[in-house]
Amino acid sequence: MRLSQAFVPTLRDDPADAEAVSHRLLLRGGFVRQLGAGIYSILPLGQRVLDKITRIIREEMARIGAQEFHLPALHPAELWKESGRWDAIGDEMFRLTDRKQADYCLGMTHEEVFTAIARDELRSYRQLPQIWYQIQAKFRDEPRPKGGVLRGRQFIMKDSYSFDVDFAGLDRAFDLHAEAYKRIFERCGVEAVPVEASSGAMGGSESVEFMAHTAAGEDWVVSCSGCGYAANLEKATSRTTTEPDTPDPAPTEKFPTPGVRTIEDLVEFEGGAPAARQIKTLVYQLEDGLALFLLRGDDALNEVKLMEAAGATQVRPAHPEEIRAALGALPGSLGAVGVRHLPIYADLRLRGASGMTTGANEDGFHLRHVDVARDIADVRWHDLREVRSGESCSRCEKPLELEKAIELGHIFKLGLRYSEKLGARVLGPDGKQSPIVMGSYGIGVDRLMAAVVEAHHDAQGIVWPLAVAPYQVVVAPPRMNDSAQADATERLERELAAAGIETLIDDRNERAGVKFKDADLIGIPFRIVPGPRALGNGCVELFERESGETSQIALDRVVDTLRQRLAV
Ligand code: ATP
Ligand code: MG
Repeated sequence: MRLSQAFVPTLRDDPADAEAVSHRLLLRGGFVRQLGAGIYSILPLGQRVLDKITRIIREEMARIGAQEFHLPALHPAELWKESGRWDAIGDEMFRLTDRKQADYCLGMTHEEVFTAIARDELRSYRQLPQIWYQIQAKFRDEPRPKGGVLRGRQFIMKDSYSFDVDFAGLDRAFDLHAEAYKRIFERCGVEAVPVEASSGAMGGSESVEFMAHTAAGEDWVVSCSGCGYAANLEKATSRTTTEPDTPDPAPTEKFPTPGVRTIEDLVEFEGGAPAARQIKTLVYQLEDGLALFLLRGDDALNEVKLMEAAGATQVRPAHPEEIRAALGALPGSLGAVGVRHLPIYADLRLRGASGMTTGANEDGFHLRHVDVARDIADVRWHDLREVRSGESCSRCEKPLELEKAIELGHIFKLGLRYSEKLGARVLGPDGKQSPIVMGSYGIGVDRLMAAVVEAHHDAQGIVWPLAVAPYQVVVAPPRMNDSAQADATERLERELAAAGIETLIDDRNERAGVKFKDADLIGIPFRIVPGPRALGNGCVELFERESGETSQIALDRVVDTLRQRLAV
């Protein structure tokens, strides 16, 4: 391809309001353009990268026996009502009505549609196992689309689904995917660490996320350098077992705390209590009403743990008016002592705690000498607290580290949830009908492209790994109107094309400096410069983008040399 005819709209300057490195460089390099909030057009160079990535994905999916589909993005609401997700999912779903006022949504994931096909077509265990997948657009009305294609409202996903007759089959399909994902990310040149993840409230038993460390990430990964433990902060635990207190024989005692609003206020307050001796009471609105969540005063609540504990899919902190109506006081003086009309969830760290201080459900008053077991009724014990950096690993006691990361893939043991809801059953070897055991597995394809850039760039621009580079080589003659350079360029163009090497010819009437800058920005792995001095020796200059090394090679050795370098 000749650059003079190519559509590669590079930008000299950093675009405003693009924070993530990958967002900036993909815009500047002419790979993508924004159409609206979280909506991006993929331009020709970007499409070439995505083609490389999807080819790798297709090869690895084929290797585990997966078969490719292409399903609709427009889904009748009925199917999502059958699974229960029409109501369970909130604003993230794009919904629309047709001319007959029938409800539809745009697919945010495809469990429902694939399960419906399995239900309608699979009859016997003999037809299992199956692994089905597609590479297709997904639509999610993300609250904060951000980072360009890292978090779009329309994005490309490889999603696969496994169908097995039993749970041992599911385990196999899950392990096959874990292996395939490892190879896919490796081949694309990104390090994606598998971490334990929350299965959420949508059911399922085991789930693993593949996380790439980057400052542009919106997840936190907790990891231990000692034993290799790694988990999403939404799931991570640490060694925080606290010995149960010796019971405090004193009865609870109400005392005035004028002006005390926060845990910190009560620490400072004369006659108050240290944070670790306070019970923090948080009130949340779940789908079916308010609930109380108790933690030690020095601990922070994790909302995903809250949702998993309560089996809720949509939650928000309760509004002060709702809290006052339910408990008779405003935040700052809340507590669970004596509360019987609302569910009470407490973090495991409060088990056995006594001599605690908490709000009295009366503005400006607190209770001391609270014994959780004695004074708080019907507690539902769960892990609710967020791990902090430096806490001990629960396996090996080494200090845990916290790092920002982005989720590139997610593999998930669904179990029977969708097959039971939608009635996808097969006849087993024993002649009995049983629900199909399912798994689901996703990779964000355009997010993966951005993650490669996050991992491979320098001050000059992108440094594509060979496997996903839009072109392998760029030939950049400093002056096309010099006949020796033009001849050498045309010869290289012919020979490289014949050798099947993907080459860009920078035949633009630009200064050498501009050409080199653009080649660096768009990140082509090899640059060949048939400049006057090298040509005088029958040579060209070969510049390697990643190492920054330059060497001279004979003009008639270019193809062979590149063949060798590209074969790695
Ligand atoms: P996240 O926590 O980042 O929102 P998710 O848990 O919603 O991700 P899944 O539903 O598991 O993601 O989707 C599978 C894959 O699709 C993710 O691992 C991610 O790579 C990709 N993905 C999800 N949401 C987006 C998005 N808004 N833009 C781009 N890729 C996305
Ligand atoms: Mg999401």
